Parts: sequence; C-alpha cells; structure tokens
Amino acid sequence: MSKFYDVVIAGGGVIGASIAYQLSKRKNLKVALIDAKRPGNATRASAGGLWAIGESVGLGCGVIFFRMMSANRKRATQGAAVAVDASTPHILPPSFFEFALQSNALYPALHRELVDNHGMDFKFEKTGLKFVIYDDEDRLYAEHIVGCIPHLADQVRWLDQAALRAAEPSVSHEARGALEFLCDHQVSPFRLADAYTEGARQNGVEMFVNTNVTGVLHHGTRVTGVQTAEAGVFHCKTLINAAGAWAADLSEWATGVRIPVKPVKGQILLTERLPKLLNGCLTTSDCYVAQKDNGEILIGSTTEDKGFDVSTTWPEIAGLVQGAVRCLPELADINLKRTWAGLRPGSPDELPILGPMRGVEGYLNACGHFRTGVLTSAITGVLLDKLINDEALPLDITPFLADRFEVASAKEERALEIA
Ligand SMILES: Cc1cc2nc3c(=O)[nH]c(=O)nc-3n(C[C@H](O)[C@H](O)[C@H](O)COP(=O)(O)OP(=O)(O)OC[C@H]3O[C@@H](n4cnc5c(N)ncnc54)[C@H](O)[C@@H]3O)c2cc1C
Repeated sequence: MSKFYDVVIAGGGVIGASIAYQLSKRKNLKVALIDAKRPGNATRASAGGLWAIGESVGLGCGVIFFRMMSANRKRATQGAAVAVDASTPHILPPSFFEFALQSNALYPALHRELVDNHGMDFKFEKTGLKFVIYDDEDRLYAEHIVGCIPHLADQVRWLDQAALRAAEPSVSHEARGALEFLCDHQVSPFRLADAYTEGARQNGVEMFVNTNVTGVLHHGTRVTGVQTAEAGVFHCKTLINAAGAWAADLSEWATGVRIPVKPVKGQILLTERLPKLLNGCLTTSDCYVAQKDNGEILIGSTTEDKGFDVSTTWPEIAGLVQGAVRCLPELADINLKRTWAGLRPGSPDELPILGPMRGVEGYLNACGHFRTGVLTSAITGVLLDKLINDEALPLDITPFLADRFEVASAKEERALEIA
C-alpha cells in the first residue's frame, strides 16, 4: 500500500529524531520517520557528552591514542604538519566550532521545552569538562589548545593541582592540574533520542520502527519516495538521509553517489551505580570518564577502523580500564556492569555532511556526525527544518555540503572494479 508524505526521514537515531521533532513543531507538514535498529547504531552507544570545545580541539574519543601518537602530538604543538586521522588529536576548523557551539547553546531551552511540553527529561547536567594534566606533554598540548582558541578565553579555566583536587577530590594525586572547558556539559543520549522521538510523535509525526528502507524511487532527477521491506512504498516530496554509519548506501540509492560516510568503531564501558564520585566530566590522555545522573560511570572510548564489527575486545577494554583507574584510583575496586561498541558515522574530514546534493532534487543529507552527533543533533534539527521550509539558516552550511568531496559515483567505482 502506498503512503504519501511531505518528508520521509530514513534513520531514527538522535539525528533523524531531532529533525523529526523540529519539523513537527510547525504542524504544517506530514512527516514519516522510518528506522530499523542495526547492531552498533551510534546513539545508544554514545556517552552523551556535550563537549563542544573539548571535541572541537581533539579531546574526545580519539584521545586514547595520545600516547601512541605522541610524536605527532609534539609536531602538532610545534605547528608542524601532522598525519591527521581520527585517532590523532587535532583542532577542527572554525566552521565546526561554530556548528558545535551553536548546537550546545540550544540545550538549556530544548531541555525545558521537552520537559514542559512533552514530559520528556533527557537529563541535561551542567558539568564542565576537565582535561586532566599528568605530565609536560599534556601541559604542552593544553597550552597549544588555549593558544588556538583566544576567542573562547572566557570558556576556559586553568586549575592547578590544589584547585583540581578541590573540584574533584577523587582524582589521582598523579594529576598536576587541569584545563577546564566551562560550557561543555552532558545529557543521557538515549533519553535525548527518546525525548525528540516522543515530542515528534505527540506532534503528529508517524513512526515506522523495525522498518528497513531498501531502495529509493525517482522521477527523472527528483527523488520521489522510498521502498521498504516491511511497509511497502512511501512517496514523499523530500527524503532526508539520517542513516548514520549506513548513510552511504542510502545516498547511492538516492543519487547514484556514495557519500564518504564510514563506520568508526568505539568501545565503551559502564560501572555499577556509585555514590557521587565526580562533579564534572573528565578527559585524560587515556580515556574520558563521565558519571551519569543515576550514578553509573561511563568510561570511553576507542576509535577503530573495523568496518561494521561491534565486538568488544579485551586489550581495548583493558586499556580504557587502566586509564580510568589511573585517573580515579577508587575505580579499582568497583564492578563493571556492561561493555559495548557502537559505530560512529565518520567522514574523511570529521565534519558532518548536510544539505542538498548537486543535480538531485527532493533529497537532503543529515549524516556523518562522527563523534559529536549527540551534541550537534540540536542544531542539525534546526538546520534541516529551515532547509525544508526554505528559511534563512543560522549558520553557513557550505563547509558541510557533500559536494566538498571528490565523490566517486557508484558507477565510476564499478567501472574501476570491472577494469
Ligand atoms: C562509543 C561512542 C561514544 C560516543 N560519545 C559521544 C558523545 O559523548 N557525544 C556526542 O555528541 N556524540 C558521541 N558519539 C557519537 C554519536 O553517538 C553519533 O554521532 C550519533 O549518535 C549519530 O547519530 P545518527 O542518528 O546519525 O546515527 P545512529 O544513531 O546510528 O542512527 C541511525 C539509524 O538509522 C538506522 N538505519 C540505517 N540504515 C537504515 C535503513 N536503510 N533503513 C532503516 N533504518 C536504517 C540505523 O539502524 C540507526 O538506527 C559517540 C559514539 C560512540 C560509538
């Protein structure tokens, strides 16, 4: 049976859900959100950090590789060219800072709105993020960061050893101090996705769960709908690709071009509930540590190029545990509750892929959010809503258009394979 919508969103992680929520508030469009949860979907694997500055300056998931990459790090702090990949700490371009900071600024109001209007609390907590400094190399990188972001000086604070211990008494005596990012906070990531989804549902968005998009319909250069395995055909005026690590398939079906989104594996672990051990989130050269509102402590995360593999593996988990115990010695005596792995939707330059693609109508990207999709879901929802409703955007998305890549069309790739 055919169904007709103004907008079909393919992918119901935090990105698809945020877009659905923003579109739903206008109540002017008929919207369907189609999702089938695949192993490794990123939103439920996430730590929920809103680390707008921390992630923009490279102190996120890739930080665990600092030690291995220390030669690179030294070169980075000396201003030399470094071999940049996702596992090498580096500072992202100004366009990303703007994207991340604008998104971050939306959370207090979004939190109130979803609680007041929809009864959904995604546990927004003002925590700050402290980069814990153990040695000269850490300090050098922290100084390098501060030098790179003079415009954010009011959001950065140095803590000496005494100040760090006063703020976080459980942190190891080995720590010499910290660099704190004052505007970096946290949420519960799955509650955030649930809140967007429930808000959208209450506002009239139709939800199709356990429903796989298997193909895209066209009329000439226009996308006109999707085929699903379980619920037949959905006709639409606009298709939004929010398929996370699987977005390249959808873009190929829609446009003939595989956008360069690929899965980047992250392993993470969770402790049992503990009395309050931390007042804020911490990141170190080995791992990050965040105590959630229910007392559980999240310890993350690795950055691995392993395709769609979502196994958890001993050396990586052991590395995270060692890093966490080094930072918070009390963790040596507690129980682990769970470990898991998720697939970040990575892009070659670590920037998201947003908006239209040349030569195709009725299709918009909303993917490639890599390690900050929870943080940047808020602004992504706003941007896609404004694109659909043909309104001025709060920021320039040119740096995020797919056309920035020299994308090899699926046809060209196939021709190369055949040759
Ligand atoms: C270990 C780890 C820790 C992280 N920590 C943080 C953090 O602290 N802060 C932060 O901001 N970000 C963090 N991230 C990144 C963040 O989780 C992702 O950027 C974000 O969740 C991406 O959301 P998404 O909606 O694009 O993808 P997903 O959440 O993966 O959602 C995509 C959905 O689309 C579905 N789908 C795909 N193809 C189809 C299809 N053909 N038909 C139907 N459904 C389909 C998938 O199954 C999935 O449900 C972390 C990620 C990991 C793995």
